[in-house]
Amino acid sequence: MLKVQGISTSYGKINVLKNISLEVEEGSIVTILGANGAGKSTTMKTICGLLKPQEGKVEFFGEDVTGRRPDQLVRTGIALVPEGRQILSGMTVLENLEMGAYHRKDNEIKHDIEKVMERFPILKERHQQLGGTLSGGQQQMLAIARALLSRPKLLLLDEPSMGLAPLVVADIFKIIKEINEAGTTVLLVEQNARQALRVSDYGYVLETGKIIAEGKSNDLLTDPRIMEAYLGRK
Ligand code: ATP
Repeated sequence: MLKVQGISTSYGKINVLKNISLEVEEGSIVTILGANGAGKSTTMKTICGLLKPQEGKVEFFGEDVTGRRPDQLVRTGIALVPEGRQILSGMTVLENLEMGAYHRKDNEIKHDIEKVMERFPILKERHQQLGGTLSGGQQQMLAIARALLSRPKLLLLDEPSMGLAPLVVADIFKIIKEINEAGTTVLLVEQNARQALRVSDYGYVLETGKIIAEGKSNDLLTDPRIMEAYLGRK
């Protein structure tokens, strides 16, 4: 479904991504692991069109989509849940959800909003509350729900567990699994390596802008080198 081929991305003169290639198969959950500053967010931003790579290609269902703007890519079926959620704190939960469907012209938006509210009952309960009054976990759910309203084929999640309490993190991973089972393909960036690999099918390890390892999630979970560097000894 998604094929990233040899992308290199820079901020001005600083080259951050060096020849990154990765693939996401339709129906799967794929995780990109890596320490702070490894280039995970830069990879996501390049895939969803927020940054243009200097080299390389992003293909989606066989079509070259490199350099397309994020709003065009949302229409094509790629939606990003950005790092730090970035919900609109001065707007209500319902208005935030409506923003997720801003480009749609069909008449099923209301139905889809009801559907995501069923999946996230807390958002239904608080639909008139301002986004900024929600807890961190609830804001993350709102950010995911908002992205789902664009009806993505591929959902990009940038550090969805960041800053959340362990019980809430477990909830978020459960939700990711459910969304995938309902038919959405997921590309996930995480520092929370163990939990991310447990829900995913395949993983890539990013270190200073390069992919240094990849494999089936189960294999990465039992690889002593990966365990040592990214998973801690548990
Ligand atoms: P984090 O978990 O901290 O978000 P990351 O793996 O997502 O880490 P990136 O945010 O992709 O890493 O950053 C990779 C490198 O690019 C870092 O060295 C960072 O300092 C640099 N970088 C990120 N954004 C910019 C920017 N706007 N301008 C210049 N350099 C940047």
